[in-house]
Amino acid sequence: MTLLITGGASGIGAATAKLAARRGHKVAINYRSRDAQAKKVVADITGTGGQAIALPADVSREADILSLFDAAEKALGPITHLVNSAGIGLNSRVADFDAGALERLFTVNTVGLMLCCREAARRMSTKRGGEGGVVVNVSSMAGTIGGRPGAAAYAASKAAVDSFTMGFAKDVALEGIRAVSLRPGMIETEMTEKTLSDRETREAIESTIAMGRVGQAEEIANAIVWLLSDEASFISGVTLDASGGGFVFGKQ
Ligand code: NAD
Repeated sequence: MTLLITGGASGIGAATAKLAARRGHKVAINYRSRDAQAKKVVADITGTGGQAIALPADVSREADILSLFDAAEKALGPITHLVNSAGIGLNSRVADFDAGALERLFTVNTVGLMLCCREAARRMSTKRGGEGGVVVNVSSMAGTIGGRPGAAAYAASKAAVDSFTMGFAKDVALEGIRAVSLRPGMIETEMTEKTLSDRETREAIESTIAMGRVGQAEEIANAIVWLLSDEASFISGVTLDASGGGFVFGKQ
């Protein structure tokens, strides 16, 4: 089992890398700029007897994606599992939208993810000589509500992932590949660090979550690694919410 994780140096990607390695995956950890963090995740895994490498690539560049998949396969063998966790946020009221920032958002969160799925399909497909495989795309609960204030564009980039994943799964269902969209609610990672560091904002956000708390990256990793496993062998083309019970009417 060779797992490639985009955006694997931090947050949900890093937690998934560590758990998957404990479950026997060889793990290729992609990172864009967090070189030291990626190497630390690799060291954590290899230090406990697992196999992992860190590979730089910007998933907004097609050429980088191609080299990433090639390098991962060269080092660890055919990729059988892919987790697309690389993603960026955009906090902007619609009236303040910047065209370049919107383009960057969709190029990373949506187009880059789709191109990674293309590479997975080409390499995993049993009709193309592959072994089959599983793809988990990390989208967001934001896509179900148009995002929290200022996050409409981010929400749209993730809603597109959900819809794409449904179609992708049907596209490759007879080729040994499953694909699922995992929708985290608000999770404590570097992406949300600044927002959650303000106590009032955190409380307001937590008041909108049925369980009354934000989640941890490890809780998302558990769901992802289960989806990657054969225990989820009949699950494809769906979204799974890991959101503490979902949104309730609150102060935010
Ligand atoms: P994070 O910022 O720790 O992780 C995102 C990772 O993606 C970072 O390591 C970043 O360097 C990497 N990345 C960004 N652009 C990239 C690029 N062009 N190429 C390669 N890597 C790139 O935050 P996280 O919370 O772990 O986010 C993981 C995924 O979960 C993201 O797709 C995010 O949108 C999604 N998500 C997060 C939350 C949350 O509340 N934290 C909620 C829902 C969905």
